[in-house]
Amino acid sequence: MITGLTGFICNDCARAAYRIVEENLRTPSKKGKGFDLKLSELPKPHDIKAYLDQYVIGQDDAKRYLSVSVYNHYKRLAQDHDDEVEIEKSNIVMVGPTGTGKTLLARTIARLLKVPFTIVDATVFTEAGYVGEDVESILSRLLQVADGDVKAAERGIVFIDEIDKIARKSDNPSITRDVSGEGVQQGLLKLLEGSIVNVPPKGGRKHPEQEYTQVDTHNILFICGGAFDGIEKKIAQRLNTHVVGFNSVQHTRNLDKGNLMKYVVPQDLKSFGLIPEIIGRLPVLTYLNPLDRDTLRRILLEPKNSLIKQQQKLFGMDGINLEFSDEVIEYIVDKAMEYKLGARGLRSIMETLMMQLQFDSPSSKPKNGRIVITKEYAESQLENSLLQESAEVS
Ligand code: ADP
Repeated sequence: MITGLTGFICNDCARAAYRIVEENLRTPSKKGKGFDLKLSELPKPHDIKAYLDQYVIGQDDAKRYLSVSVYNHYKRLAQDHDDEVEIEKSNIVMVGPTGTGKTLLARTIARLLKVPFTIVDATVFTEAGYVGEDVESILSRLLQVADGDVKAAERGIVFIDEIDKIARKSDNPSITRDVSGEGVQQGLLKLLEGSIVNVPPKGGRKHPEQEYTQVDTHNILFICGGAFDGIEKKIAQRLNTHVVGFNSVQHTRNLDKGNLMKYVVPQDLKSFGLIPEIIGRLPVLTYLNPLDRDTLRRILLEPKNSLIKQQQKLFGMDGINLEFSDEVIEYIVDKAMEYKLGARGLRSIMETLMMQLQFDSPSSKPKNGRIVITKEYAESQLENSLLQESAEVS
């Protein structure tokens, strides 16, 4: 018994009372109302974009689309359900070459909003009953990230990578079963749209004796990303068919032929092999630009946790002041363009470049506590490296 001023309470009752209060705090406020979200406290689209700008370089269109959709998503959570106008969910699909920042954008947004966030790869899924994972395991991962807190998971964000890999394999759906393509798309439908799904808490395959957790996906925001290799051809075909008729000459002249991706419309995703039902549930479509030289240089220098800043921090912890000459920056960017690995290439180049110094400098610090990386040093480290050899082989 715990003694109070005017009475007593036993440990069991205290625990039960605690649980009731916890539960009330967490559940959406009573009937008719949305989650207890104060819209005024949420970052506005401009704030969201400004935050993204700190970590992601360029990709302004994608950032604007993402900021607006995420803001609307939270308006949706805050909406009053008694109202007749119901705001619909705005799941997002981002189309763009690999390594241009799709995952980074999604991850950065989730960090800003402090909601559970998970990345899943669409290629591991197969239709129920076949070797592979069920689509429901997406929610298992979200639950795990949310430490089993169903209410938190139900407001989370899921990034589905490589959505293009589950495109229908052939134009004729009836010839063979397409268990990792169209079958998975069918499975995804109900998750994307919003329904109550039985989720195996530990993921993997569902089986009859298992216990399930019920997760409502109405308020989970799905962001899908894919490289959609070859979609430019479909876009070009469509644009050509459109330019017949009035204004056609004007129309073609204004096209940016080097980057057709920016003209992507839902119809192109359909030509690529996504089923119309899925496209309908991913109403916000945006694209990412390929990374050019200038963008790569900015990625190296500008983001809050840019590769250069990370290296400087690593050396700083050993009391060494690390500097890069301007020439070296250009050299690294040149190499990244040469290896055609995009922004991911910058990382491997930086690691190769700094390996020997990272090995030596903690035990033999320079006397003035300063290291300047010059182009000659960078060349000597990179030219004999495996990275260079593999680039030459390929
Ligand atoms: P994908 O488009 O394939 O999802 P990622 O977002 O995983 O590509 O990008 C891979 C890495 O490249 C990121 O972790 C980041 O370090 C870097 N990167 C790619 N694009 C950008 C960008 N626009 N701004 C800053 N860093 C980027």
